[in-house]
Amino acid sequence: MPEIRQDVVTGRWVVVATERAMRPSDFGSTRVSAAPEPHQCPFCPGRELMTPLELYAVRPADCEPNTPGWQVRVVPNKFPAFKTGELEQPSESMFSRRAADGSHEVIIHTPDHTACLATMPVGDVELVLRVYRQRYRANRDDPHVRYAHIVVNHEKEAGASIEHTHSQLFGVPLVPPLVQQELAGASWHHTSRGKCVFCRIMEAELEVGRRVIVENDSFVAIAPFASCLPFEMWIIPREHQPSFDMIEGEQFGDFAQILHDTLGRYRERFDSPPYNYYIHSAPTDGSDYPYYHWHLELIPKLTWPGAFEMGTSMMINVTTPEHAAEFLRDSHSVG
Ligand SMILES: [Zn+2]
Ligand SMILES: [Zn+2]
Ligand SMILES: [Zn+2]
Repeated sequence: MPEIRQDVVTGRWVVVATERAMRPSDFGSTRVSAAPEPHQCPFCPGRELMTPLELYAVRPADCEPNTPGWQVRVVPNKFPAFKTGELEQPSESMFSRRAADGSHEVIIHTPDHTACLATMPVGDVELVLRVYRQRYRANRDDPHVRYAHIVVNHEKEAGASIEHTHSQLFGVPLVPPLVQQELAGASWHHTSRGKCVFCRIMEAELEVGRRVIVENDSFVAIAPFASCLPFEMWIIPREHQPSFDMIEGEQFGDFAQILHDTLGRYRERFDSPPYNYYIHSAPTDGSDYPYYHWHLELIPKLTWPGAFEMGTSMMINVTTPEHAAEFLRDSHSVG
């Protein structure tokens, strides 16, 4: 069973996911090896029984679960970082551990092994985003899950272990530290300035324009003023919505369009780089967070943090966000 351990000096929590069962020899090389052949891929249609049984799928009504015919498929992660269960060992005198209760799901975007979110039709991306909300709500209703974290690791260099395009949803039993920091800042801002900090950032950025990359009726994509990494982007809904589960109607299509567009810009400008994205949203712990505003953070994997960053939690960004926005704005839009 995975467990969560707390560092006694800083209070920082770390997940120890024993089911991943890495042997020392698995760490031998950090070089990226060739992707597995499509004929071995457990996410391809026809190999449904190579994954745990599906939790949800978009498929025709007359089509059996765990058989081909699906458009989007959700399965439990075979090697979960979070899984509700009993701790195998109790805490030791100085050292706290707790069960890594929760869930860990894989959302397979498409049956097409060679597609990715930037090359799929926008309508298919929209279908994936609708599945995000379905799974988000299912996890929100799980009493073990205090935070539902949706992520994409695109390609091996960005942490993907399977090439076939997919997202992951982590049902986390605590509110992660970075989200706690954002909540604290947003709460303070709301109390002292009387308005949501993300709404204010969006207004200010649209007024200045220098860091805006692209916008549509429901979303704005910006290079944030204090970007941590080169060409980092935030996609923010125009409507003030604390939680991702509030997205609805036309907003799905607009979200799909801007995500497809921005990923297309990365693809064109950096020759299909690996990238990561994740959605920050209000916790699912039953409390209200009216001052928070969900958003998606997107980062192409162009640099790797060094010892300064690792030792300080401070990033050195070698590209200004103003330059990043200009460079990405000028690329021809594929949306
Ligand atoms: Zn595949
Ligand atoms: Zn807001
Ligand atoms: Zn954020």
